[in-house]
Amino acid sequence: MDLSTTAGIIPRCRHCGHDLTLKLINFGAFARAERLCRAKAEPFYPLEALVCRQCRLVPTRDLLAATDIFRADYAYFSSGAVPLPAGFGWLFRIMV
Ligand SMILES: [Zn+2]
Repeated sequence: MDLSTTAGIIPRCRHCGHDLTLKLINFGAFARAERLCRAKAEPFYPLEALVCRQCRLVPTRDLLAATDIFRADYAYFSSGAVPLPAGFGWLFRIMV
């Protein structure tokens, strides 16, 4: 698979647009989300937390495009998804 990376480009703060040049911590190398349990070997990418010197936001460095991470088979359900509140309501009713 051809993945587009942003390696070599100074990332910008998504909140204020300031250059992110201060590294907070390096977590090492990780596979993309939802790829850890696959039988096939997946590439690993560095995972780093940066600090915005302007607004103090602490984002992770985005090395891959969002479309390369959150594809159609990405199994993430936000709390805003309709089935989740319904499921939590059912769980709450059986617990009380
Ligand atoms: Zn900022």
